[in-house]
Amino acid sequence: MSRTHKNVPQALPHIEAMAPYTPGEQPDGDDWLKLNTNENPYPPSPRIGEAIASELQRLPLYPGPKSEPLRQAIADFHRVDPAQALVGNGSDDVLNLLIRAFSDSGASVGMLEPGYSLYPILAGIQKAPVRKVLCGRDMLLETGKIAHSGAAIFFLTSPNAPTGVGYSRGQIAAILEEFGGLLVVDEAYAAFAREDAVPLLGKYPNLAITRTFSKSHGLAGLRVGYVLAAPEVIEILDRVRDSYNVNRLSQAGALAAFGDQEYYRKIIEKINFTRECFYRVLRDRNWFTYPSQANFLFTEPRNSRGETGAEVAENLFKYLRKRKILVRYFGGSSLTAGFLRISVGTDKQMNLLLEAIDSWINHAQQK
Ligand code: PMP
Repeated sequence: MSRTHKNVPQALPHIEAMAPYTPGEQPDGDDWLKLNTNENPYPPSPRIGEAIASELQRLPLYPGPKSEPLRQAIADFHRVDPAQALVGNGSDDVLNLLIRAFSDSGASVGMLEPGYSLYPILAGIQKAPVRKVLCGRDMLLETGKIAHSGAAIFFLTSPNAPTGVGYSRGQIAAILEEFGGLLVVDEAYAAFAREDAVPLLGKYPNLAITRTFSKSHGLAGLRVGYVLAAPEVIEILDRVRDSYNVNRLSQAGALAAFGDQEYYRKIIEKINFTRECFYRVLRDRNWFTYPSQANFLFTEPRNSRGETGAEVAENLFKYLRKRKILVRYFGGSSLTAGFLRISVGTDKQMNLLLEAIDSWINHAQQK
């Protein structure tokens, strides 16, 4: 059936005008060294395959709408009530629910700059104004600016993306003391960090914490995340979410992963160890790198002439990509354009990356 241009329906003007979120590149094939989207380099716990296989025969049936066994396991793990937890199709789903329930054209969305670039896209769909709190190169957290941002909902990523800088519980409590809106602490990377904000939940009803199985639990392909908050906030989010928002296989797989914490504890330790070794290597080369509490490093490459900056970072990004090594380049802002974000892989993967960086430095033309 042919469709003339005249018949193409127009979406709402703010949707027609918006650009989609640009996810990190997900190439086909296993011959890429993928250090661009902070995935876990280690295999999933063997319990996950078993749990998913035994769930297959139940696929004709709808999944539990509230992911109840998983909510219970999450609540047990964090020592909160199950009424304080809600599961989503990745934590992006949960972030979307929060934005839909708490922002619109009269209720603005706050975030740090630099920060996770999905928030402004979600805010745009809601027609919500975005209030950015700009960081300096030191990436110090200005708690007063956040508390007085006037945002109805503020997203604080801790550890932050793409820098890896982690904020303390004390700093987050200081914001909560004064902030009038809902503070969402996006803890996608908290399993790699020294501390988290979970103990603050009991004291502050205006705190929500989002987590994901994609990074520390190596299940990015399964799409499971969750939010912890006061029961009143969870009850609101339950009104907004799709009734069957997490499929059967994902619920079973995530539950099995959560039952194998010892397996993941060792993996997280290993990733943190590799991160610290790689951090020291970069610093020894005189590449400015933020101390990271996540499973990635944000580093400012220096070429053979000792130069840094956007051209140098982009040049290395392209050089690596030609050699099938993917890292992430954020050219959009002066705070990020001279840097590359590199996910922490296995020791072997980091050594391959270092070899490629050495060859970049040693090639005069650096193309
Ligand atoms: N928050 C942050 C800060 C992230 O970097 C990511 C991963 N891109 C997410 C949330 C979303 O993770 P997922 O949807 O895979 O749970």
